[in-house]
Amino acid sequence: MEAYEKIYLLLGLLILSSCSPTNVNSNSTSFEDNNEDPYVTSLEVISKAKKNNYIVGESFDTTGLKLMAKWSDNIDDELYDGEFTISPKIFSKGDKNVTFTYEECSLDYPVEVISMDDIKLNNLRVDDSLIEKNGPTRYVNFKDKLTVEAINLDNSIEVLDNYIIKDNDEIITDSNYFVGAGEHNISIEYGDKSYKFTMFGNYSLIEAETKSNENEFFYTDLIGNGVMNSSGKEDTPRISNIETASNNTYIGEIAYGRGLIFNFYSNKNMKANLMLNASSAYTLEVGVNEDGTSSWAPTRAGDIYLDETFNCEFNNKETILSHEKLEGMEWTLDKKGSYSIFANWKLVNLGEFNIEKGFNSVKLICIGANDEKGNAKLANIDYLKVDFIDNNHIHKLNKIEGKESTCTTSGMNTYYSCACGKMFLDEQCKEEITSLPIIPALGHNLIWENEIGTCSRCGKVVNKEIVIEAEHNNSLSLEEFEKYKKTGNYVEIESSKMDGKNQGSYLGSIYKNDKITFHIYSEISQKASFNMIGSSNYVLNYDTDGNPKDIGDAEINKIFTMKVNGKQLSIPNDVCYKGQKYDKGGWDERFTKWENLKILDIDLKVGDNTIVLEFQCPSFSCPTHPWGGNSDMTINIDKILIDYLI
Ligand SMILES: [Zn+2]
Ligand SMILES: [Zn+2]
Repeated sequence: MEAYEKIYLLLGLLILSSCSPTNVNSNSTSFEDNNEDPYVTSLEVISKAKKNNYIVGESFDTTGLKLMAKWSDNIDDELYDGEFTISPKIFSKGDKNVTFTYEECSLDYPVEVISMDDIKLNNLRVDDSLIEKNGPTRYVNFKDKLTVEAINLDNSIEVLDNYIIKDNDEIITDSNYFVGAGEHNISIEYGDKSYKFTMFGNYSLIEAETKSNENEFFYTDLIGNGVMNSSGKEDTPRISNIETASNNTYIGEIAYGRGLIFNFYSNKNMKANLMLNASSAYTLEVGVNEDGTSSWAPTRAGDIYLDETFNCEFNNKETILSHEKLEGMEWTLDKKGSYSIFANWKLVNLGEFNIEKGFNSVKLICIGANDEKGNAKLANIDYLKVDFIDNNHIHKLNKIEGKESTCTTSGMNTYYSCACGKMFLDEQCKEEITSLPIIPALGHNLIWENEIGTCSRCGKVVNKEIVIEAEHNNSLSLEEFEKYKKTGNYVEIESSKMDGKNQGSYLGSIYKNDKITFHIYSEISQKASFNMIGSSNYVLNYDTDGNPKDIGDAEINKIFTMKVNGKQLSIPNDVCYKGQKYDKGGWDERFTKWENLKILDIDLKVGDNTIVLEFQCPSFSCPTHPWGGNSDMTINIDKILIDYLI
């Protein structure tokens, strides 16, 4: 067959398009026969690529290139990346063209290719700090994250975009490169210089957030129709306050007879531990709605065991799971019947498996037998983690010198770390550690004399008593309050009524829904007695002028709840500020009977400690105020005193 050729002179370049259309019947006498199927007659470059100079080892960059196919029926068609082939894939020494091929047509496009041997440098400077060396198997766009500079022989500096990146000696051609399982020795090469670093793909995570169509390397298939309550394909959690280990939606709940398949890709044969993050969803009791009907939401879950709950196949081969427990738990419901605690997530090991190059699958089907009430033993599934074990990797250790701890700062043992993420206490890699070998601060060694403790090591002086008085955020400007906070011992008040400024020198009267936080800075970890100077403000009677006349006793366990360092403590019921009678009216004369009461002993830790009092006092049947409205049982507070128990 005769070749059909045409020469185009375009953009000052001589670009040759050649076509040999086999779709044309060879018996046909003319290509112009209108009954023929249309075929491509030529390719044309409409605009040139941005980059036309390459070094050996690089691939053609189509950015800016506009390529048209001309058809025999006079229709022109713009071709996009992937529609036409480009050869060579990687430039070699001596290449002068790149060839585009579409249908039966080819077009040579001229480029300049320089050999690495021709480039001589003083140095190659690479900033790789934006590249995470160690982490899950993932895509990395190296050229986006690296800054590569050539220091030329004349010491001029040139920022490069045409360097070569190799992974274990193979040139990387994908701009978004998949860093798979195991060790990757990355080499950046330009001219006669190179720069190397090591990366690791340590694990793959198959999560609910990973939508099957967005990540070709890991996805889940569901077995059975509508098996997962939360299908794992939602963008946001179905229940807004759901607690999942991955802080987003979980994959869902596997019910009896149903299941799912985790699919994941490995770029090599290697061993891996398959870790499943799951929780029991085996409901023993459900909650009750406000109207007395039963809620859908469980309040109590039973224990389930991995081997009794799942049938597991790895790469279509049945495998025996361990008798590991996923503990059930009590669930608290809020008034609307929603969960406030959702699930007791636990990372359990399904076992060590031989992962094959290519796709692998883990199939889990719930076989949890029904109990006497007919409830299947369910499980919630959050994610599957494939922990790769790279036996061929030899650790390259980096020594991190230890330091001793002092009274107030923590120290660290000497340890060794490898780029693979593992850490060891010894150079022989025998004692692996999973967290930094921190030595806690020693704490002061106080010798007490006359209510003053002096540290035998550093000389720090500590008073036995800490007093926090009536200076607080409401009475100070923002600037003053910031300064006050730096003293370490201060009060924060969330209240519309309490205001030390208006009330004089005491903190104020505290009413329902007020909140007060005392911050105590402690130099030592020690038990302490928490004392509060206060008075009852519980009005029983008013005089004719509307001033309080009789004041009742204020039992503080009925007035506020108390949290120390976030933990709720119950206040003893025998702590009570005594009320009093006022014979005469007049504000100053009747006002107030201060008492210093010990509330309870508390545990202080080194640093900031918080004591939160939240006032909740119920409305008592107090007399109607002459000016209208009822009084609540309230309390006046002046200051608190903290005494170390030594
Ligand atoms: Zn290592
Ligand atoms: Zn000390």
